[in-house]
Amino acid sequence: MSSVRRNAYQDVLHREVKKFEWTGKISEKFGENVFYEDKMREYLPEQAYKSIKSAIQHGTKIDRNIADVAASAMKEWALEKGATHYTHWFQPLTGATAEKHDAFFKPIGPGRAIEQFSGDLLVQQEPDASSFPNGGIRNTFEARGYTAWDPSSPAFVIDSTLCIPTIFIAYTGEALDYKMPLLKALNAVDKAATEVCKYFDKNVEKVIATLGWEQEYFLIDKAFYNARPDLMMTGRVLFGHPPAKGQQLDDHYFGSIPARITNFMREFEMEAIRLGIPVTTRHNEVAPNQFECAPIFEECNLANDHNLLLMDLLEKVARKHDFRIILHEKPFPGLNGSGKHNNWALATDTGVNLLAPGKNPKSNLQFLTFFVNTIKAIHEHSDTLRASIASASNDHRLGGHEAPPAIVSAFIGSHLTTLLDDLEKNIKAGKMTPADKTELKLNIGKIPQILLDNTDRNRTSPFAFTGNKFEYRAVGSLANCAQPMITINTIVARQLQLFKIAVDKRIKDGNGKDEAILKELQKLIKESKSIRFEGNGYGEEWVIEAKKRGLSNLKDTPSALKVWERQDVIDVFEKMEVFTKRELLARQEIEYEKYIMRNQIEARLISDLTQNHIIPVVVDYQNKLIQNIQGLTAILGDEAIQGTTAQKGILIDLSMHMNKMQEFSREMLENRKQANKIEDIAKRAEAYRDTVRVFFTKISYHTDKLEILVDDETWPFPKLREMLFTS
Ligand code: ADP
Ligand code: MG
Repeated sequence: MSSVRRNAYQDVLHREVKKFEWTGKISEKFGENVFYEDKMREYLPEQAYKSIKSAIQHGTKIDRNIADVAASAMKEWALEKGATHYTHWFQPLTGATAEKHDAFFKPIGPGRAIEQFSGDLLVQQEPDASSFPNGGIRNTFEARGYTAWDPSSPAFVIDSTLCIPTIFIAYTGEALDYKMPLLKALNAVDKAATEVCKYFDKNVEKVIATLGWEQEYFLIDKAFYNARPDLMMTGRVLFGHPPAKGQQLDDHYFGSIPARITNFMREFEMEAIRLGIPVTTRHNEVAPNQFECAPIFEECNLANDHNLLLMDLLEKVARKHDFRIILHEKPFPGLNGSGKHNNWALATDTGVNLLAPGKNPKSNLQFLTFFVNTIKAIHEHSDTLRASIASASNDHRLGGHEAPPAIVSAFIGSHLTTLLDDLEKNIKAGKMTPADKTELKLNIGKIPQILLDNTDRNRTSPFAFTGNKFEYRAVGSLANCAQPMITINTIVARQLQLFKIAVDKRIKDGNGKDEAILKELQKLIKESKSIRFEGNGYGEEWVIEAKKRGLSNLKDTPSALKVWERQDVIDVFEKMEVFTKRELLARQEIEYEKYIMRNQIEARLISDLTQNHIIPVVVDYQNKLIQNIQGLTAILGDEAIQGTTAQKGILIDLSMHMNKMQEFSREMLENRKQANKIEDIAKRAEAYRDTVRVFFTKISYHTDKLEILVDDETWPFPKLREMLFTS
């Protein structure tokens, strides 16, 4: 065995199980490292507490004096937690989170120092921002960006640092991060949904979006990880023959979880609990070494912060247990990829989930209103929704055999399908009689609170209604949920706004309120029918059917990213005050850039590894075969023809696959050079897609053949079966 691979294998076999001991009640630890409201109340004077609470609830401005008081309270609490540093924690468009640590400690004279943290430092800071992507928003001469406190998500302590969630903006006021537009989108949906709620309940003053994400990931031992340059550099394996036993037996799903992994999970869950992330479920996914973590849903902005925190925690705690976390959407060929289902709903400040069927016709009419408007929004803006989850890595997963296809459609289950079909047919034109209304209400009243047919879920639908929430399944495991959440909340806000205008008009024209709502819903049901799809989303059949329905099929990232420059798309985001045109175009450019970079790195690595790692072992093995054939020929004379058939066959096969691999690598390199010369970034991305990326599978087809042919003893990379099944 090649020494790197052998050493890795030995390391894994002898890996010590790291213990994680824990006693006591989980509830006592929940949120202990978070500066939640109860702690605010404890550490802040009454007036300051009220002012900050109002800022959280109504977005009012916090004045400097209050900020000083808040900073000092936060510092006091954080010092008690053992913190020595503080940082503005933000979400630049790289996809990861960023932070720059500063000490509380401040010398004030010879041998004297204090711990200091002022309102100024809490409210606003200027990180060295020049290295974060900005899509042309910041020219170097105005390269300044600053982070500003988001009081709506609570500060927390990790290790010895107080982390303050912040937005990240340019001096021109444009967003350079994911959080600021998310807050704006949440504000837009709050306003629009609250207005619509008033048809049903005048007491509703605020609507929040809720998000419950399900994070999938793989765990790989660090020794294997380090012996695979591809996994290390790109997050996925670029070569690797799928193991003879993959997931066909489904014996991993919900299987027993081995001790090393259980200890890892316990520790990271405990860390998550201390940070107030409400993790509860723990189970294996379908593929070997694949797992999922799904906390209880929370307000969308907080839930998203928590997802980002959890991704960091996974990484950190995995290292402690000698694992590496793989968050890529398709790290291993032939095995299930990883997603991050985004469960989304809307809830009122009166405690009602607007996407849960209610107990009576009145609350069900409210449910139907939000349900149908969401479907209409998806229908109208399916391209934007698709674009919001586009990435080079997610392209490997979408449309794969377990993943939702790139065509956006909505699954709602048979009961609601029948109901919508009935509403479409049975609401007559002209004025409704009292009998008509009663019948309709009875019909609507029959929606069961628990929709059983949704438990047998259609896994292929990218956007599914699952009883009391929609589940957007096409989101990738690596993504920041803010991207799809900005989109969903914005398009639903826009649709609700239009709905309100239309219903008000119907009322003005003399319709009763319920009648106006029902007639408008009927119109929306008709208009959005084509997006509803209950069938199986895999395969050509649906592609053809979707085309007939006029649904678009944006197969890959470069096609999807074009959406951001469409005038109708820009109009919606500008109208809802979530993005300006410049911000959208900047984001589009950053996404193109990321797509190109990712593919460029993979292409380079493929060239390196085929050249430096694979060819040498193939040649060695060929030499061994040649020696063997020569030896046999010398001894066997005429009989050698028969005695060396197998060896010669292998020798030829090796040459054939090596030649092909080399030929494709060369061609890919040439195309990459050409692509790099293309000035226009969209065209460059397309060139990468059409002339570079297409070689990835062509090349790996041959490397995988070589992997099977070459002596197992000398193959340089840990094989997939070793990485996924060694325990
Ligand atoms: P699965 O999809 O794995 O079967 P469930 O359907 O039980 O899991 O729930 C998935 C996620 O949906 C959980 O994280 C849960 O917190 C979330 N969820 C439940 N209700 C809501 C809601 N009203 N808003 C947002 N997310 C929700
Ligand atoms: Mg799910």
